[in-house]
Amino acid sequence: MFQNSSCFTPNLQPAGLYIHIPFCVKKCPYCDFYSITDGSLHPAFMNALISEMRMTRDPNLTFDTLYMGGGTPSVLDAKTIEKIIETARQSYEILSHAEITLEVNPGTVSLKQFDGYRCSGVNRLNIGVQSFDPVNLQFLGRIHSGRDAHAAVTWAQKAGFENMGLDLIYGIPNQTKKSWLMDLKLAVESEPQHLSCYILSFEPGTPLYRDRQEGRLKPLAEPQVCELFETTLEFLSHHGYVQYEISNFARARTGSSGLKGAERNRSRHNMKYWKFAPYIGLGPSAHSFLEPRRYWNCADVEKYIQDLDADKLPLAGEERLSMEQLMIEAIYLGLRQTKGILIDIFDKKFGVTFKTMFKDTIAVLESKGLIELSQNRCALTSGGMLYLDSIAALFT
Ligand code: SF4
Repeated sequence: MFQNSSCFTPNLQPAGLYIHIPFCVKKCPYCDFYSITDGSLHPAFMNALISEMRMTRDPNLTFDTLYMGGGTPSVLDAKTIEKIIETARQSYEILSHAEITLEVNPGTVSLKQFDGYRCSGVNRLNIGVQSFDPVNLQFLGRIHSGRDAHAAVTWAQKAGFENMGLDLIYGIPNQTKKSWLMDLKLAVESEPQHLSCYILSFEPGTPLYRDRQEGRLKPLAEPQVCELFETTLEFLSHHGYVQYEISNFARARTGSSGLKGAERNRSRHNMKYWKFAPYIGLGPSAHSFLEPRRYWNCADVEKYIQDLDADKLPLAGEERLSMEQLMIEAIYLGLRQTKGILIDIFDKKFGVTFKTMFKDTIAVLESKGLIELSQNRCALTSGGMLYLDSIAALFT
């Protein structure tokens, strides 16, 4: 099926560095990210993280993004964040203009802390607002109020952050279009550069998943979720936000020639995942990808600390993606983005002819209005976006 093996040549794009801070004040019932609430392990974790950075230096990679996610990285004070950035700079070749993002929970910050983060070298924030509505926040088990979220956004701007993203969640049981529009309105009022709007999902293993399985809660019906998705696209486009991935929107400036500048406001780090760029993940449960190899750390802070104390990398597994697996991944990742699969790049990378190979699938999906095919792109329509997983599966 494959005429060349160009997809195994080293990927020369700048890499992304992800650091997983595995601590939260309290677990949210919908979340399946790995984290613990025992803060007593912060110092030992920091020592282990520093060892991991020193042990995984890679002179072949340069990085233009560093993303501290979690968990809740903002449970760490500015001095600790500064130490992480400083050690990362000593261990890896991080370009001077790198995007350095910190995820923030509004229930853990103050103006002084934002000032400190700014001085530590963080130049982008991602604030987990999720909702401004007290009923939704309670349902989501968040530790903050809508007022705390407002305060966090205001303080971040006061501290001089000019690149800020807000995360919102919708599709919450009993949520109305009116209440979701209010969340969107409050979010755009502060003019963040970036918005991520995620549909609430019920991930296996979470308390929310169990509540649904055992009939204690009724998810919002699919037609209503679709309506909220359409509402999101319409409202954000009207307010100058350009969708570039199913859940992600970048703010454009309005100039004489219309909307522009949205590219600059995209999350450069998250783009790495969708563009097949190399990335290294540090910290418990973090994943790394150096094509065609994917590997990941153990999801256990104590084991992570023990392994690194013993000068051992805390790896839990690895796989080498075959050409077929890489191709499936390229289709899935391409379809997530509004620009879709770039057919000439796809054909060159895999030594195939996309349009011939998937002729029948494309015809069916086009006739149902779920994808759009042009000379060089194959992209989901807005009607197809909510069915990404099942549509991508048809290409296998
Ligand atoms: S959603 Fe964020 S704050 Fe809540 S448990 Fe998950 S990582 Fe922690």
